[in-house]
Amino acid sequence: MALNEFGLIQTYFNQAAPEGYLGVGDDCALFSVQPGYQLAVSTDTLIEGQHFFSDVNPNTLGHKALAVSLSDLAAMGAKPKACVLALAIPSVQPDWLSAFSQGFLHLAHRANCPLVGGDTTKNPDGVILTVTVFGEVPMALALRRMAAQPNDDIWLTGQLGAPALALHALMYPSSIPDSLLTASRTSLEQPNPPYEFAPHLLGYAHAAIDISDGLLQDLGHVLVASRCGAKLYWDQLPIHTSLSGLSLTQQLDYVLTGGDVFQLCFTASRQHRAYFQQLATQHNIILSRIGTITATSGLQVFNQSGQALSLPQKKGFDHFGSYE
Ligand code: ADP
Ligand code: MG
Repeated sequence: MALNEFGLIQTYFNQAAPEGYLGVGDDCALFSVQPGYQLAVSTDTLIEGQHFFSDVNPNTLGHKALAVSLSDLAAMGAKPKACVLALAIPSVQPDWLSAFSQGFLHLAHRANCPLVGGDTTKNPDGVILTVTVFGEVPMALALRRMAAQPNDDIWLTGQLGAPALALHALMYPSSIPDSLLTASRTSLEQPNPPYEFAPHLLGYAHAAIDISDGLLQDLGHVLVASRCGAKLYWDQLPIHTSLSGLSLTQQLDYVLTGGDVFQLCFTASRQHRAYFQQLATQHNIILSRIGTITATSGLQVFNQSGQALSLPQKKGFDHFGSYE
């Protein structure tokens, strides 16, 4: 028998709520944040054909739908607390739903971010996923875009370039050797934002942002909000190995403007260098010191011999921007 809306929720999304939570099944979910903490809230929508391919592995899609939102919590230094999922699907496909929910719930479990509610609707035109996450962060300590200060170090977790390379390979099949797609694909389809590491930056880091649309664009948001500029060092940027055979121009493009990274860029006074390095080791995170905040505005990237590199025209992804 085909599942109705309630059977579908029951089968795929009804998780036992943890102690202290009211989860799926009532009109609202209920949970608290600790006294002295603030609720951090973020929502993101993924649309079939726009943010993911129709034939994407549903298990990795479930993972990514939550990961992109966990990345926003990490960017504020908030600890994941709960999430809700609004799901619009053209029809009930049990295999797809089963794989999707497993990918989603596996990450929810790993991140201590229980799925406590949602909405399920039909959309004949394709799948639309909206995930809202809730995190908690000590009062007034959240990392903000406006808090960078001149002479701050600029730090970055993870590596750059691979998601954009994989996206290119999938959009233009046979434009890139299969081996490079194999090497870069996981970075695109299963991003791994540093949601456990990020809350430990509170009280140490100044500004932070997650890299969703490209390093130049996202760091640019920090610079505008903080009214300062930045120098980046090309040889310090953590370039994913799948890009090693590409030309410098191609690498600059993927590394500086490639989106879908879902890693963290933050700034901090140099006195905390040892703390961050030890924290990264403890959390098994690749952490690179990629540049310095400057009092004068503008963003420049320097090579090893101190020359400023000419940067790609397009800074990153913009839904309403034109493609070049
Ligand atoms: P209402 O009509 O009162 O909004 P619904 O019938 O939409 O309630 O949902 C019933 C319950 O199932 C609610 O607790 C809701 O949060 C939950 N729910 C609905 N869809 C999902 C989903 N995709 N994932 C998780 N929980 C869901
Ligand atoms: Mg409803």
